[in-house]
Amino acid sequence: MNILLIGSGGREHALAWKLAQSERCKTLYAAPGNPGIAQVAENVTLDVTDHDAVAAFCDDRGVNLVVVGPEAPLVDGLADSLRARGVAVFGPSAAAAQLEGSKSFTKGVCDRAGIPTAAYAHADNAEAALTALTDFTIPVVIKADGLAAGKGVIIAETREEAEEAIRDIFGGRFGSAGASVVIEEFMTGEEASFFALTDGATIVPFGSAQDHKRVGDGDTGPNTGGMGAYSPAPVLTPMLRGEVLKKIIAPTVRQMAEDGHPYQGVLYAGLMLTDAGPKLIEYNCRFGDPECQVLMMRLESDLAEILYACATNALGSLKAPQFADETALTVVMAANGYPGTPEKGGAIHGIDKAEAGGTKVFHAGTAEDGGTLVASGGRVLNVTALGKTVTEAQAAAYKAVDAVDFASGFCRRDIGWREVEREAA
Ligand code: ATP
Repeated sequence: MNILLIGSGGREHALAWKLAQSERCKTLYAAPGNPGIAQVAENVTLDVTDHDAVAAFCDDRGVNLVVVGPEAPLVDGLADSLRARGVAVFGPSAAAAQLEGSKSFTKGVCDRAGIPTAAYAHADNAEAALTALTDFTIPVVIKADGLAAGKGVIIAETREEAEEAIRDIFGGRFGSAGASVVIEEFMTGEEASFFALTDGATIVPFGSAQDHKRVGDGDTGPNTGGMGAYSPAPVLTPMLRGEVLKKIIAPTVRQMAEDGHPYQGVLYAGLMLTDAGPKLIEYNCRFGDPECQVLMMRLESDLAEILYACATNALGSLKAPQFADETALTVVMAANGYPGTPEKGGAIHGIDKAEAGGTKVFHAGTAEDGGTLVASGGRVLNVTALGKTVTEAQAAAYKAVDAVDFASGFCRRDIGWREVEREAA
């Protein structure tokens, strides 16, 4: 089949790498792709906000499956537009993508389906929010309702900070994402990610991971899109995974269908493992970046077959996806300045050397400049290795990181630290 992949990050390079390995994949197009993706796909220029143009491209090139990497085109209804024209799409409709696009929407689903999550209040003006706040103990979590690129969540350590966050959000700090707020009880525990594929009826578990959001070693400094990850997450024991499926994922899929917007695609649950059991922090309607890189590194089954089955309501007849019984760990190499203003244009050499031992270097923010690979974004490379343990995978990943010559870049040196400590104990 011919496949069009939408996106340009490390997540999409990992998806492209795996899709291209499929015997079913005849031609793989990526819009817009990146230099790493160009090694396995034909990069094309398409305005993905112009749904007619994407559909025309699919017609013209005989595309049988569109795989949407990032959330924005999904929230924007690209999957709806293409499905209406008969193109199979991996990714939810705009209505179903509200699970990521609107925090109050997700809380409503949780209420109706009895899904364990933080207690909350939803308010659409500052006065109502400040009144609702008085019912919460401190610390408390204040969230802009809409998509705010990971910046719309404030963990307030004092009541004054919470009040200021509410005023800020309604003052327009997050634009239309802050038209309303969700106030949440602060939960404590370890965080983990769980992935499931669903076609709206059948649910197929698709691995677990833990990421590292803070920019600095020891989980310090500002939040980022993610500085590294590993999969599986041993903290999500088989028993806990069963509980997550039964109490969180399955009721969500059921409720979405019942509410009239069946969910089709990957459901990525951000979880807090509390003393009272796993609770939902948030849903994402696409693969995580960099969690996707570690999932793809472990996946042994045919990704094109799996995503096509998901897109065509055929997950029920698919064999369970197989993952290597090993740990994959990825280290994000970012450009100096990230997550503020990253330094662009820094030269990168040595990727071949880094990949010599079986490690895979996925490209994220890279570009070609006169035959030299250079940094063109904040997160630039995802150095991804396998190992029998997290400790082994970590050692292999950092050995490869040290083979990369990227003078204007940096990375965390402690990805996987929690599990490495547990393995040493
Ligand atoms: P955005 O919408 O701005 O893109 P996001 O979707 O990443 O943000 P969340 O995942 O809801 O936002 O929250 C980000 C982080 O904040 C979580 O990974 C978690 O560390 C912390 N967090 C969110 N809600 C809670 C909570 N109720 N209790 C404790 N920590 C929380």
